[in-house]
Amino acid sequence: MFIAGEWIESKSNAAMEVKNPANGETVDTVPRGTVDEVNAAVDAAHDAFKKWSRVSVEERANIVLKGVDLMEARKDELALLLTREQGKPLGESKNEIDHFLHGMRFYTRLAPTLRGSYVNLPDTTMYGLVLRQPIGVCAAIVPWNFPVTLLGTKIGPALVAGNTVVAKPASTTPLTTLKVAEMMKEAGLPDGVLNVVTGPGSQIGDALVGHPRVRRVAFTGETETGKRVAEIAGRGIKRLTLELGGSDPLIVCDDADLKRASVGAAVGRFYNAGQACLAVKRLYVFDSIYEEFMDMLMARVKKTTVGPGENPQTRMGPLHTNVQREEVEAQVADAVSKGAKVLTGGKRPGGDGFDKGFYLEPTVLTEVSLDSRVVKEEVFGPALPVWRVKDLDEAIELANNSPYGLGASIFTRDLVRARVAAERLEAGNVWVNSLHIGFDEMPFGGVKESGLGREHGPEALDYYLEPKGVVIATG
Ligand code: NDP
Repeated sequence: MFIAGEWIESKSNAAMEVKNPANGETVDTVPRGTVDEVNAAVDAAHDAFKKWSRVSVEERANIVLKGVDLMEARKDELALLLTREQGKPLGESKNEIDHFLHGMRFYTRLAPTLRGSYVNLPDTTMYGLVLRQPIGVCAAIVPWNFPVTLLGTKIGPALVAGNTVVAKPASTTPLTTLKVAEMMKEAGLPDGVLNVVTGPGSQIGDALVGHPRVRRVAFTGETETGKRVAEIAGRGIKRLTLELGGSDPLIVCDDADLKRASVGAAVGRFYNAGQACLAVKRLYVFDSIYEEFMDMLMARVKKTTVGPGENPQTRMGPLHTNVQREEVEAQVADAVSKGAKVLTGGKRPGGDGFDKGFYLEPTVLTEVSLDSRVVKEEVFGPALPVWRVKDLDEAIELANNSPYGLGASIFTRDLVRARVAAERLEAGNVWVNSLHIGFDEMPFGGVKESGLGREHGPEALDYYLEPKGVVIATG
């Protein structure tokens, strides 16, 4: 673990193995942290806050930028490590590192433009100032699907705004996070400003979120875990953002560019083996173009080469863990038991090497009953259920029939339809004729059970700053 600028073992003396999802081999081990190390990390961050919060914004941004430059120079090394611990194809790992670096740079440029305000008061012998101050120690809890970018969406705004951080990566993907912390130290980030604790969230999560010195919690993960985090954070009245699960719908209208829509659906569903919060998880296609569209979609899906992430030909890697694979298999089996047809996939690929990793074929389901698990739950893997719809009203009604509200998309050439969908779809983000892409420049987050608050964009900085009203009497 990385605490107060030093490598720390756990008092438990126990270790956790990080396995390569492509072949089950051990990539490395990390300490199985305990509440003692959580406390030590929070104390280190608390001490470091006193100085870091007073460093000028410009200097803070320069130090972070130096770290970003170091990481840029060692991008290939980071990407390979990410593929080994996460399983995604090397090209996707490089994209993820690029996205992380871009996001970090975005906040280093934005921070020096931060302003408070001057307020005219009814009593003219007085005036008001609104300061925007850093909050203090922030807990950054990150899942395994995009371990680097989702770390960046938290530490980028947190650090430039003058906060200090205790990061908790997922137990199965801690290695790139530790590498990032190491490089930030090399760049001159003072000890204690960024700490990393490793260990099972179920055992150390409450201690981190509930620690009285942690004033801000940024959590990305499953909705059920998020509810627990919200409960513990609520007891301490902490600033909280939650980026949770999603079941994003995609609507293809009869006037859409069908080729473009089929790419949107296939890439949107099968990128990162379907393990993305904003993946396309339900597809609604207008009746009149259904056959034509499905032919295009199937042609694209059948071209997806499944294999180890380190193989340059691979377009879809293994699932991250066997538990994850079994969960998706159970959801597909449930749909099939209720009458769904499997158009392609639905099973583990056979042949050389596949038995060692957690592979699953890209799967497309049709004629899916609305009481299936794939409708009610998030499908965090490569299975896409498709429905026919008669018009936009029906599509929007079905799309909104979900406890989730992260993203949603529509393919149409009709501006009125696009506008109606953008307004009526219950989601934090809507894409029109576009892949589900998160831009650093745009606020990102969910409604309903998909989350609370926003990451990305200038909006994210607000969640790391506390407005303080100061009244000055001069009469
Ligand atoms: P989990 O909720 O299982 O884990 C997320 C993180 O929380 C991990 O670091 C985990 O640690 C930790 N954790 C587990 N239990 C607790 C606890 N009681 N208190 C505090 N922390 C805890 O999610 P997954 O890792 O399975 O990630 C996949 C989920 O994340 C999906 O639902 C996906 O949709 C969502 N997600 C949402 C995004 C968004 O922006 N809305 C973006 C990306 C993913 P450990 O690994 O040790 O268990």
